[in-house]
Amino acid sequence: MNFDRRAFLTRCGAFSAVTLTGSPVLAETRLGSGTLTTVSDGSLVLPGSFVFEPMPQDKLAPVLGEFGVAPDRLEPECNLALYRDEELTVLFDVGSGPDFMPTAGAVLESLDAAGLSPDDITHVVFTHAHPDHIWGLLDEFDDPLFLNATYLMGRAEWDYWWNPETVDTIGDARAAFAVGAKRRMEMIEDSVEFFNDGQEILPGIAAIGTHGHTPGHMSFEIRNGSQSALILGDAIGNHHVAFRKPEWISGSDQDGARAADTRKTLFDRIIADQMQIVGFHLPQGGIGRVDRATEGYVFVPDAG
Ligand SMILES: [Zn+2]
Repeated sequence: MNFDRRAFLTRCGAFSAVTLTGSPVLAETRLGSGTLTTVSDGSLVLPGSFVFEPMPQDKLAPVLGEFGVAPDRLEPECNLALYRDEELTVLFDVGSGPDFMPTAGAVLESLDAAGLSPDDITHVVFTHAHPDHIWGLLDEFDDPLFLNATYLMGRAEWDYWWNPETVDTIGDARAAFAVGAKRRMEMIEDSVEFFNDGQEILPGIAAIGTHGHTPGHMSFEIRNGSQSALILGDAIGNHHVAFRKPEWISGSDQDGARAADTRKTLFDRIIADQMQIVGFHLPQGGIGRVDRATEGYVFVPDAG
């Protein structure tokens, strides 16, 4: 039944209320015999304080000025990574769905533009369970999408959001995150598969524990032939302060100190291995490379 309703809505062009300002298919790169694409879920609108509050304000202002970023309002892109090879069609995170923000939740429209329907996705892999990454599991009728997919989530991340105490310990600002994550996880409880740090979760795709943004946040290294790319999720969450001052505590991370350590370790690895990266909230589609800068690092988008 829900398939028919969705097909009807798709034909009517009414399945997404989000009007994308840019292209739904954002960036694409070859990876051996595979293809890595980012598709847009729209963008978020956040108060600057959500990220910047814990930072040294006198040093912050010139960094933001240099990047042309307003201190009071952020509008980060949401880029879902889609990896396709001979066997797999893997979607990393599913976006916000219809219930989080009016500017986000465009995954169906963007998959359609890439020539895909939700039923074509063979695997959904989660970096973490924040709303802009997991709420898109359910459509506007509260029916699950991605009916043919196997769901995969890191064990520690699942356990954290599944714990009934989390809604009381996470703090008022994120209590709705906990309720929303649990409700969606209950929909996939019987079919989800778990993995741990370092595990090869699918052929050529390995999980890398990048905890801090959330307690069980995971990134993923995809290898195909001699090429590799790192799906960062929110482990490096923006192209300005996270690159210039990776050691600064960010308000968007649940454990700020641990997330800062994770960023430093990740940058060392990305530079040493000259890896391509895909960042969920990085600009211009989020696929690119990292260079050292006079201070910190700089994001060099492929699309630039
Ligand atoms: Zn996010």
